[in-house]
Amino acid sequence: MANNVFPPAETAYPIDNAHIDSLEAYQTQYAESIQDPEAFWATVAERLTWYQKWDTVRDYDFVNGEIKWFEGGTLNACYNCLDRHVEAGHGDATAIIWEGNSPSEDKTFSYSELLTEVKKFANVLKAEGVEKGDRVCIYLQMVPELAIAMLACARIGAVHSIVFGAFSAESLRDRINDSACKMLITQDTAMRGPRSDIPMKANADAAVAECPSIEKVVVVERTGDTVDFNTSRDIWWHEAMADAEAACEPEVMNAEDPLFILYTSGSTGKPKGCFAYHRWLSRLYVLYISTALRALMKEGNTWVEKYDRSTLKFLGTVGEPIKEPEWLWYYNIVGEKRCPIVDTWWQTETGGILMTPLPAATPLKPGSATFPFFGIEPVILDEAGNEVEGNPATGYLCIKTAWPGIMRTVYGDHERFLDTYFRRFPGYYMTGDGVLRDEDGYYWITGRVDDVLNVSGHRLGTAEVEGAIGQHEAVAEAAVVGYPHDIKGQGIYAYVTLMTGESASDTVETGIKQAVRQHIGPIATPDKIQFTPALPKTRSGKIMRRILRKIAEGDISNLGDTSTLADPTVVEALVEGRR
Ligand code: ATP
Ligand code: MG
Repeated sequence: MANNVFPPAETAYPIDNAHIDSLEAYQTQYAESIQDPEAFWATVAERLTWYQKWDTVRDYDFVNGEIKWFEGGTLNACYNCLDRHVEAGHGDATAIIWEGNSPSEDKTFSYSELLTEVKKFANVLKAEGVEKGDRVCIYLQMVPELAIAMLACARIGAVHSIVFGAFSAESLRDRINDSACKMLITQDTAMRGPRSDIPMKANADAAVAECPSIEKVVVVERTGDTVDFNTSRDIWWHEAMADAEAACEPEVMNAEDPLFILYTSGSTGKPKGCFAYHRWLSRLYVLYISTALRALMKEGNTWVEKYDRSTLKFLGTVGEPIKEPEWLWYYNIVGEKRCPIVDTWWQTETGGILMTPLPAATPLKPGSATFPFFGIEPVILDEAGNEVEGNPATGYLCIKTAWPGIMRTVYGDHERFLDTYFRRFPGYYMTGDGVLRDEDGYYWITGRVDDVLNVSGHRLGTAEVEGAIGQHEAVAEAAVVGYPHDIKGQGIYAYVTLMTGESASDTVETGIKQAVRQHIGPIATPDKIQFTPALPKTRSGKIMRRILRKIAEGDISNLGDTSTLADPTVVEALVEGRR
């Protein structure tokens, strides 16, 4: 854990128009949001346009997993994203700036233009038989049609389910079948860097062959590559849009009507289909670097330094605990010591960020997501489910009260919802992450609770041990898991990738052990170190420790759900190199 504190942006870099411009301002507003959450969230909700105002702000039960916000209220998410801005005279303002695969390729849409496209596509959806409540799967790259399709679904009350464009046919098939989608929206082929032949339509065809619920497939022409086309099922986006009418009234939706389904990353098991609701409007992706940071750092500084970074204002990270060495690299080299690092902790399930520094207000500590966001009441529970008071404290990270963005159920499996989040500690939302709250009240995610190591009765978070291993200069990335050990109960098995140009040796191995002894203590010294060219990661870049655990335990016959693995060949290499 780092002791150095970095100033917030007000001194490091002037962030214009910061909503929260001092730590005191954050603390005051946060306290208000916790003392009277209903008043706080009602004020936030007043900013939206409602057809009919709600009867009750909040009604929830964390024992039975029943959560409702703004019951009785009616609104439309698409109307709130687009129409109300156009009606307020901001139709010419830019709504989307799209940057394509190369800097020479871009496009902008004003609010009015976007609204027209959305209304037209909403009519295409209707014409092809999509009705309120139907599920529509969107399997696209980051193209403007993605936003248009999402908003069009919201407009007519259809539920969209976005599947990351880099997923395989199998992953796509499983997600479509899990929520029985009626329509799939995809593109011909995809571009990424030098490649322009990523076969998305072909993947979609392979998936849909095993998806009985799909009736129509809409295809965006992105590259113009020739693809198979089934004229009785497939529709070109541009052809359908050419004939579509640009008038479509938004559907009046209840606040608790479903808006979208989003699957978790599948790091710890089968991905969970998280159901989010209509009053829940937007989420912000893409400005983040997450789990890739360490891999980028591995390649040295020159490729970063050759680009002008003077327009960067702040840097984001999400996805896995960031460790001090890469935090410092990101801060010093990428951000040139100017840009605050906004380390956001959240889950697919939470529907938004739950902990984050505010760039102009929060002094930063490398590796800490700092403090809770407004309206979020984190607590630390011990094994017995007691709240651990005071600082420092460590244990299970749970949330005490409901916030509007929290998921409502696992699609089609409410029992799994209860089992995963509410049964271990009735009355709390259990995040599944471990946490440390330091002397100053800063929160540090220590890894998944299921991954906690128990060595001779000492509990160690994976993030802590991996961070210590990463202090060795030859190390690019590390992942640790426990394995049965006769004497200690659990031994520590470390998988380590090295910086480009470094190679495995006894000296490096000894150096790594020394680094761990120095930064944590002898108790955390890895018993086994396996050097490997790569770690098994999900397509969103998260390490799948459950696979590593199985390999360390020698239980390689059934590795569980590997559908979200980015590169399945990594696993074979790991099995071969087992120690
Ligand atoms: P699954 O739930 O299917 O196993 P997943 O948990 O990886 O997959 P996501 O919802 O994408 O699915 O990831 C949320 C998890 O990512 C968190 O529970 C936490 O473990 C980790 N995480 C996210 N942001 C941060 C962060 N800033 N610092 C540390 N860990 C983070
Ligand atoms: Mg999870």
